[in-house]
Amino acid sequence: MRWLGAHVSAAGGVELAPERGNSIDANCIQIFSANQRQWTPKPLSDSQISDWWQACENHSMKRVIVHSSYLINLSADTEEKMTKSHGALVSELHRSQKLGVHGVVLHPGSHLGAGEDEGVKTIAESLDTVFEITADLYGDLLCGERQEAMKILLENTAGQGTNIGYRFSHLSDIMKYVKAENRSRLGVCLDTCHAFAAGHDISTDAGWDLMWKEYDELLPAESLQAVHVNDSLRGCGSRRDRHAGIAQGEIGEVPFRRLMKDERFHGIPMTLETPSGMDGWAAEIAKMRSWET
Ligand SMILES: [Zn+2]
Ligand SMILES: [Zn+2]
Repeated sequence: MRWLGAHVSAAGGVELAPERGNSIDANCIQIFSANQRQWTPKPLSDSQISDWWQACENHSMKRVIVHSSYLINLSADTEEKMTKSHGALVSELHRSQKLGVHGVVLHPGSHLGAGEDEGVKTIAESLDTVFEITADLYGDLLCGERQEAMKILLENTAGQGTNIGYRFSHLSDIMKYVKAENRSRLGVCLDTCHAFAAGHDISTDAGWDLMWKEYDELLPAESLQAVHVNDSLRGCGSRRDRHAGIAQGEIGEVPFRRLMKDERFHGIPMTLETPSGMDGWAAEIAKMRSWET
C-alpha cells in the first residue's frame, strides 16, 4: 500500500488535520504547522501536541510532511530578511519535531538578482546556519521510529522569477556546498507540476524515465523523500507554477500511473496539492489507487 494523500487544511489547529485526511482516504498528509503567511505564528500548545498525536493514532496517520512558510527565503537580499528566514525555518523544525513528522518541505529560495550560482551558495550557507542551531533536534516519529535530526526536503521549483531549484543541479549543488556533517539532513521533495513547468516533459513514459535518469545522475536515490502529485495548467517549460487536478491539465495520466507502479515510490509519502478541494481529492486518491500495483 503506497503512501498517498493530500495537503489538508490545518485551520482551527493542526490536531484537526488527521481526521480531514482520513475522510478523503489519505494514509499520509501534508500540512502547514502554523499560519504560513506570518513570521511569528502562535506556538503549538502542549494540549494541541498531545491531541495531534492522539488524532494521528486514531486515523492511522503514520507519515506526515510539513510544508514550510512561503515567507522564508534563504537567499534573501537584506540581513533583516535573512535573519527572519533563518528564525522562521528553525521554528518550523522545532514544531515539526514535536509533531513527529518526517521532514519539512522547503522551496530553496530566490536569488533576487544575485545570480543562480551565488543564490545556491547562499542557500547552502543558510542551511548550515539552521542545521547548527537545531543540531540537537531529534525525537520520536509518528511511524514509531526515531529520527536522528529533523530533515529539510528541498522542493524542485517551476522556475518562476528568480526561484532557485528548477534544475536538479541546483539541488545537488546545494547538497554539495552544505557541510558534510549536515548532508544527511537534506532530502528532496519532487513536485510533478513544477518539474513539467521547468521543462521535463513527463507527459510520456519516455519523458518520465528521462527525468529520473537525470535525477539519478545528479542526486542519490535515497535523497527522494516526498512527492507532490500535481498536474499542470500551463505547458511544459512554461516556468509557471499553476497546479491542476490529476489528468485534468497539460500533463495527463502517465506520470501519475507511474507513481503508483514504479518501485522507486514505495514508502515515499505522496501528497496532492491540486486545487480540487476535499471531494476532488477523495476522487483523485481513489482514481490513483485504482492504478496501484
Ligand atoms: Zn511547495
Ligand atoms: Zn509542491
